[in-house]
Amino acid sequence: MVTPSLQEIVCCMGQPVAGNPTQYMMEKAFAAAGMDWRYLTLEIPPQALCDAARGMKAMGLRGGNFTLPHKVAIIEYLDGLSEAAELMGAVNCVNRDGDRYIGENTDGKGFVQSLRDVTDPAEKRIVILGAGGAARAIAVELGLERASHLTIVSRSPDRGGELVELLQGRVHVDASLVVWDGDFAVPVETEVLINATSIGHLDARARVPLSASTLRPGLVVADVIINPPHTQFLRTATDCGCTTLDGLGMLINQAVISFRIWTGFDPDADVMREALEEFLEL
Ligand code: NDP
Repeated sequence: MVTPSLQEIVCCMGQPVAGNPTQYMMEKAFAAAGMDWRYLTLEIPPQALCDAARGMKAMGLRGGNFTLPHKVAIIEYLDGLSEAAELMGAVNCVNRDGDRYIGENTDGKGFVQSLRDVTDPAEKRIVILGAGGAARAIAVELGLERASHLTIVSRSPDRGGELVELLQGRVHVDASLVVWDGDFAVPVETEVLINATSIGHLDARARVPLSASTLRPGLVVADVIINPPHTQFLRTATDCGCTTLDGLGMLINQAVISFRIWTGFDPDADVMREALEEFLEL
């Protein structure tokens, strides 16, 4: 149990949202830890981000989460970046350190923490579907965790190629690009397969273009999709005897890491999972 003397405020700046699962998790975790902290969800349009960032600093907020479309744009208003955030060129968590505001990225770390429940990424051959923000965060973090090879599968050669260049040139991990055209055949030596595309978001029947016959028993298959968590991709993998991991673990773990960055304490992760399941009505 934590008993900080001060009330602090953290915020989430992003697009208009119907509800924010991270706010729900954070508020429950603060309450469970006996902390009189607040987590505010603020809808900030891109043209107001500069003023919003100045407001955060002027009011001395503890920090916050930054979601689409601000993950890259917020960087110019910060006073420094963590190694991972600098490599990814994206920030999803800001923390006040003295009078400096430092950008972090907890998305990839949250994924790795979740993956560790089933396997250690070190020395693994890993295939990542997609080359967007989530794929980039996960790939950089897996590279920092010494994966032996990362294959980026992207329908956009430019976006995929840029990520592979980053991984090879700055993260110093062996990486290659497959341009996604038709059903992807998972290479037989693959040990972990990750859907980091948005396919499946709000669509439980959306199909990831993939040859199901190449999913072998024992392969670890992970999805980043949060809602709904039981995606078609994971259901197919389960039917093929794969070990599966849904997107909830990544979301909970990135929230656990953000909580720790802001407060210096570990939250009760079970409280966060219960809150998330309640929020998603699972
Ligand atoms: P982006 O828009 O940055 O990237 C989406 C990626 O999916 C792109 O690479 C895009 O390809 C690819 N893609 C989309 N549709 C298709 C398709 N039909 N075929 C092939 N590729 C496709 O989004 P994010 O990376 O920020 O987010 C992706 C998902 O991850 C979202 O659903 C988000 O909710 C989830 N997420 C989950 C988190 C968690 O904690 N569990 C954390 C962060 C995100 P292209 O570039 O060619 O358009």
